Amino acid sequence: MDKSQGRTTREAAADALPPVETASGHRGLVMEEKLIFEQGVEGRTGVDLPEPPRVARRLGGLERKGAIGLPGLSEPQVVRHYTRLSQKNFAIDAGLYPLGSCTMKHNPRLNEKMARLPGFADLHPLQPTATVQGALELMDQLAHWLKTLTGMPAVALSPGAGAHGEFCGMVAIRAALEARGESRTRKRVLVPESAHGTNPATAAAIGFEVDAIPADARGRVDVAALKAKIGPDVAGIMLTNPNTCGLFEGDIVEIARLVREAGGYFYCDGANFNAIAGRVRPADLGVDAMHINLHKTFSTPHGGGGPGSGPVVFSERLAPYVPVPFVVHGPEGFRLVEDRAEAKSAFGRLKGFHGQMGMFIRALTYMLSHGADGIRQASNDAVLNANYVMAKLQDVMTPAFDGPCMHECLFDDRFLKDTGVTTLDFAKAMIDEGYHPMTMYFPLVVHGAMLIEPTESESKDSLDQFIATMRALVDRAKAGQAAYFRASPRLTPRRRLDETRAARAPVLRWKPRAAPVPQAAE
Ligand SMILES: *Cc1c(COP(=O)(O)O)cnc(C)c1O
Repeated sequence: MDKSQGRTTREAAADALPPVETASGHRGLVMEEKLIFEQGVEGRTGVDLPEPPRVARRLGGLERKGAIGLPGLSEPQVVRHYTRLSQKNFAIDAGLYPLGSCTMKHNPRLNEKMARLPGFADLHPLQPTATVQGALELMDQLAHWLKTLTGMPAVALSPGAGAHGEFCGMVAIRAALEARGESRTRKRVLVPESAHGTNPATAAAIGFEVDAIPADARGRVDVAALKAKIGPDVAGIMLTNPNTCGLFEGDIVEIARLVREAGGYFYCDGANFNAIAGRVRPADLGVDAMHINLHKTFSTPHGGGGPGSGPVVFSERLAPYVPVPFVVHGPEGFRLVEDRAEAKSAFGRLKGFHGQMGMFIRALTYMLSHGADGIRQASNDAVLNANYVMAKLQDVMTPAFDGPCMHECLFDDRFLKDTGVTTLDFAKAMIDEGYHPMTMYFPLVVHGAMLIEPTESESKDSLDQFIATMRALVDRAKAGQAAYFRASPRLTPRRRLDETRAARAPVLRWKPRAAPVPQAAE
């Protein structure tokens, strides 16, 4: 180690070499993969189909006449293409994925096994209910667990994601206000700055006015500021707990009381329920509606790995507005209440059919295999792991707030001051080290935020490795190697991308490249 520069001789030697340019474009055994359309050859196919029999045209001249435009590929080409793409995908199955607020925890394979049982996997949503009693019982049991864990009397299982659950809860609140004849006068929804970004977006999408409440120096809702905003035009509050700073809103009972006494409703974003499940019952906090992300707390795959599911639990005051369908149990077994003739005050239906059945199976499997005590243990461990990471990094990085955290720990960029390294540079260097970056620049209330959520499914060994890597990167930043960070990532198939342009002007459709125009100068 050349201490004067803070660099190893190996690194110095690597930097002295020209960048690797292979003849094939591949890097190691990572293939440089063309788009499937660029690989296609007209007329090539992996199957031999007989000529279709001649049939009378019945489309009234609307049938397709031109080429369909699909790429012509052999079977091995298709297999290789998708296998190579899958190898470029980072996943919780590949390594630690500390993306704060997203709860990338292990998805137990037992869940998968249950979801693949033919009795579940081969169901059709239009089957007569007499033939799907087991599936309806499963939904009923899942509803029972969610109601028991939260202490809430009603639940809507159908929302397809957390944000969809927020939409469900806020539409129920609007329906309740309509029933009180106050939907025109109560238009304002209070949203703390420490709430998740989907909260104000949901309120605005439904037509409420969003009124922000500042966070105090402890990263929690400023109760004095909240009090000043309470009034007869307040429809309710949307509060995330634990909030996006990874902190428990200690004044939550008081906040609920203030909002409810003013005639408003308390929507709680419970996507971070994994920090408190089995320890806190949201009903006891005064919550009126709260979504639960099965794909976070209850370990069903998400991100690229599967669809979400965001059931919403409701208090007594909102229970009449729960959307259809829902499962009821009567003398003839289980059945679905599907229309408003029966559920008169239900606000309607949110999506086709009954929700993400595959996720219900996985989530209930997780609940039953853990048991109530195991769920409590899981949230204990999630909080313990986050505090372990914070304790082991707080002398070299800067925690955004004092005191312990819940399931995720939040750092800001003060430790990078005067190093010339930004939060983004730091995150890019983590990729070369084999780590998916943490959540960056979010929550917005903290400058240069880095939000790390290790989850309970990481072992102490894996956390120690992560901590050692983070410490090494901090050393490097403090040793004046800003250029190294600015050039990261170096080892990925692509280096830095124009992320703004990719988000603002995405190119989603492939068009054949025009033949190169000969340059006059050539
Ligand atoms: C993940 C998350 C959401 C949104 O959930 P989706 O399923 O991604 O729509 C909302 N709030 C919080 C606090 C979250 O962490």
